[in-house]
Amino acid sequence: YMVDDQGVEWVRGVCRFCGTGCKVWLGLKDGKPVRIRGEKNSAINHGFLCMKGMLFYKLFRHPDRLTQPLYRKSKKEPFKPISWEKAFDILADEMIKAMKKGGYHKNAMGWSGIAYYGSGQCLTEETYLFQKLWRCVGSNHVEGNPRLCMASAVGGYLTSYGADEPAGGYRDIDNAETIFIIGSNTAEAHPILYQRVAMRKMANPDVMVINADPRVTRTSRIADIHMQFKPGTDLALLNAIANVIVNEGLYDKEFVEKYCAFHAFTPGKDKVPLKGHKVSFEEYKKFIAKYTPEYAARICGGNITPEMIRKVARRIATTKTVSMWTMGINQRIRGVWANNLITNIHLLTGNVCKDGADSLSLTGQPNACGGVREGGGLCHILPGHRVVKNPKLRHQLEKIWGVPKGTIPPKPGYHTVKMFSAVSYTPEDRKRFKGLKPIYFMWVNETSPMQSLPNLKRFREGFAREDVFVVVSDIFPTRTSELANMILPCAFHFEKTGVYGCTERRSQLTPKAVKAPGQAMPENWMVVKFAEVLSKKLAKQSDPEMRRRAKIVYDALVKPYKAVVDKDPWWELPKVIWTEYSQKVTKGRDNDLSGATYEVLLERPDGVQWPAPTVEIAKKGGTLRRFVVGKDPLATALAKKYPSKFAGWEIIDYGPLHKDYKFWVWCRPYKGAAEEPDAEYPFYLSTGRIIDHWHTMSMTGRIKEIFEANPYAWVEVNPKDAQRMGISTGDLVLIETRRGKNIIPAKVATDQGPMEGMVFVYWYDQDKKRMINFCTKDAFDKGSKEPEFKICACRISKYAPA
Ligand code: SF4
Repeated sequence: YMVDDQGVEWVRGVCRFCGTGCKVWLGLKDGKPVRIRGEKNSAINHGFLCMKGMLFYKLFRHPDRLTQPLYRKSKKEPFKPISWEKAFDILADEMIKAMKKGGYHKNAMGWSGIAYYGSGQCLTEETYLFQKLWRCVGSNHVEGNPRLCMASAVGGYLTSYGADEPAGGYRDIDNAETIFIIGSNTAEAHPILYQRVAMRKMANPDVMVINADPRVTRTSRIADIHMQFKPGTDLALLNAIANVIVNEGLYDKEFVEKYCAFHAFTPGKDKVPLKGHKVSFEEYKKFIAKYTPEYAARICGGNITPEMIRKVARRIATTKTVSMWTMGINQRIRGVWANNLITNIHLLTGNVCKDGADSLSLTGQPNACGGVREGGGLCHILPGHRVVKNPKLRHQLEKIWGVPKGTIPPKPGYHTVKMFSAVSYTPEDRKRFKGLKPIYFMWVNETSPMQSLPNLKRFREGFAREDVFVVVSDIFPTRTSELANMILPCAFHFEKTGVYGCTERRSQLTPKAVKAPGQAMPENWMVVKFAEVLSKKLAKQSDPEMRRRAKIVYDALVKPYKAVVDKDPWWELPKVIWTEYSQKVTKGRDNDLSGATYEVLLERPDGVQWPAPTVEIAKKGGTLRRFVVGKDPLATALAKKYPSKFAGWEIIDYGPLHKDYKFWVWCRPYKGAAEEPDAEYPFYLSTGRIIDHWHTMSMTGRIKEIFEANPYAWVEVNPKDAQRMGISTGDLVLIETRRGKNIIPAKVATDQGPMEGMVFVYWYDQDKKRMINFCTKDAFDKGSKEPEFKICACRISKYAPA
């Protein structure tokens, strides 16, 4: 906090938008937000911000803000304002009704009729508290929108490293000799990181940027090599790079021999695609022998040649390399496998755990890592990187919460596509998911699945059902809140206090600085107040399980916060929650944040990277790099082996690598998309983001400067396709898939755009004609359950209204 000579008060926090985690100062004049600037001492953004980051102060007093609870019994009626007390009363009744209808499934996911769907945009304390409520009520139906963006990266790190999240961080970009960007338009999705790549390249012309993407993008413009391949063929490409590295003897023999193990998944032999069985290095060599550069070039098409593959492989093998990727890799039915194949290249070449060498998955949302991945916001994971299925870890958490053993149901709830299918609950859904149990009550927090889910029509029909009670807590009305029974107004960023955790294991605090409008409140307050009403009503039920849960909910969700919830929900309540989470729940886990108190987080200009088990370590910024030195035998062995490379690093780690203390290199065969183009639907359809807009545009669409620059989405068409089909920029194009259709203006790609035979559409537009998720497919990765937004088959034609 500081005041400048013009009387502007400045409060330091984090940007509200992407997963980069830029540190910002919010400027206030007479208590009103007037400006935002970057924190120059931040190790993340060094004072820079993109336009989203600079302009979000305009949202605080926007006339569209939700400012009081709204309710309607039927979704056909208009909303009417109600009090918070009445809202909690109705909510508790509806939740209990849904619990009764769905029933309790003791040795499974618990109560099947109720679900929570959260977001990588609310604070860590909020995700932690919502999931705590759900687990204590007795349901593992806890999910969130990070399933749509980074679940495959989680699966990738878990299977390759044995632990989630990157080993290094952004600093590696500054020291890399080669930067390999695949499946990421970093320039638009993570602009400040792209700037860092560009600055690295400007500072040292020997640095090589390689961009692998079916589109020419702003990112590929600075690339020395742009590898343009047919969508979905990158598994062949990555295996071919590994083939060259191994066959030309470019791999780090000592590193591979000592610190890598080889694994394969064989259908029939291994049941779960995330698991596999051990193979020898010779067997791995045999596996990749097929992926010669010539073979891969034939599969990949585009501009890929065997010579290009060899050049890239040799460059990566002989230089310090950072790989960066995001949705182009993750949003696929083979997303986990593609993640594994990128990390394979790093492991074979020993390009991990060194300054300038990292396998760095970029996260989309500001708190997908900190809140959802680490805070237990998905159906199969509990806070502190614990898995639901592990009884020891469940009981550990129950002990911390002071609740009886067996409180947390033993089986995961439903992942996103399954969860929303349980809402639609059509014969088709029941055929797809055997034994599917219907959901009658869903709480959606700070996200808009009714725009962001794939194959949207059927999910919107499900949400419109009168027998499903939907409550949405958010800042602005969305395409989801229009289908709700109840809307709860949330306090916005800087109107409440809490922590965000960004891509590089870094937690940062944003304190309350602005008064929330009307009756808008922080979600932490909502959860505790609601829990109190719910526990009272549960206690009156005849069902003994409900009565048992009444006490658990009171003990875990009301008692610990009772003293502060009314007194100070803005600072004291989140602080109590954070203290519980960081000092008890993460203690001794790989994401140990025990030393990162609010006081330490406030002091530091760029937060703390976990593990940070003591205040002393946290004050120094935490752990820069994992898997290196400490209690972990592999890490210690590595440090002994390469003393000069690791000298002087302040690193402590006791993260759970695989039990054999090895990194795992995977045999992952090439497999195409769930739906490839054919005679009827001859084009690839892919979707993604633009620099200006954030996700479903519910915020950036309300910032005049941003909206006017890009008021609607368009479809990018390759010039050759456009010429063949008589399409010019500005023409309306009909896009049809097996699931739906859209009518979207064309932009014939001249400077950037997709390869021939492919079209690309931005998914931010809220206009139903242009909401492209009516067309996308909801096939998902069997391991990560992340849907394949990036590839489906479509046909296009110039649209001529009748
Ligand atoms: Fe915010 Fe991301 Fe832009 Fe940084 S790059 S200012 S975190 S939107």
